[in-house]
Amino acid sequence: MAFVVAIDGPAGSGKGTITKIVGEKMNLVNIDTGAMYRCVTLECLNKNVKESDIDKILEILENINIELKKEKGENLVFLNGKDVTEEIRTTKVNENVAKFAAVKVIRDKITPMQRKMGEIQDVIMEGRDIGTVVFPDADVKIFLDCSLEERANRRYKQNIQKGINSSYEEVLESIKQRHKLETERDVAPFVKAEDAIYVDSTNLTIEEVTEKIIEIISKKKLEKNNE
Ligand code: C5P
Repeated sequence: MAFVVAIDGPAGSGKGTITKIVGEKMNLVNIDTGAMYRCVTLECLNKNVKESDIDKILEILENINIELKKEKGENLVFLNGKDVTEEIRTTKVNENVAKFAAVKVIRDKITPMQRKMGEIQDVIMEGRDIGTVVFPDADVKIFLDCSLEERANRRYKQNIQKGINSSYEEVLESIKQRHKLETERDVAPFVKAEDAIYVDSTNLTIEEVTEKIIEIISKKKLEKNNE
């Protein structure tokens, strides 16, 4: 196995931004596993397939092609050859992704794809079940937490920047709903791996969290090299 850093955390914890910066600084390929669940969700929504329609979902999964590419410093997501980087972040996908991510056949397809990515290159992989299910033996496991209110606050500000019109209360409710579905699902629920290092980003800047995480990874790398 290559060197694997697993970063699990809730929506709005800053893990997307932080993983990208740390990956670049430490020469680790950044893999956004949420984007993969978002792609499956988008495809199902486009084809009017519900999360309960397992036969139709299996059909979709059989032919699906998801690629995470880096072009000119940008992380791009391709679904069946089409650039869907923006489309997978719409409110419609946000509202439906946790339902589809709880479907076992979808996770059974996506999890091995993620494992393969971490076997061929050094990665920093972010998601909800990386340290518990995808790479239980990851070299570094970080659980990046943040209070619900601050997560909603960050998403609300991001939405304003993107020109998305939604109130703070709506954002808070949507994040709360998603969190409930993720933590209470039967398959790969979002929980902290026992051996993950807990980092709370609520009162820290992106720079402070980045620094903390780089310090943790550097220490582990040194230990691994000395083994
Ligand atoms: O990280 P992001 O918020 O983009 O993830 C989108 C959704 O995909 C999450 O709300 C979660 O339901 C699901 N997910 C998951 N397991 C992962 C990554 C994401 O279930 N490893």
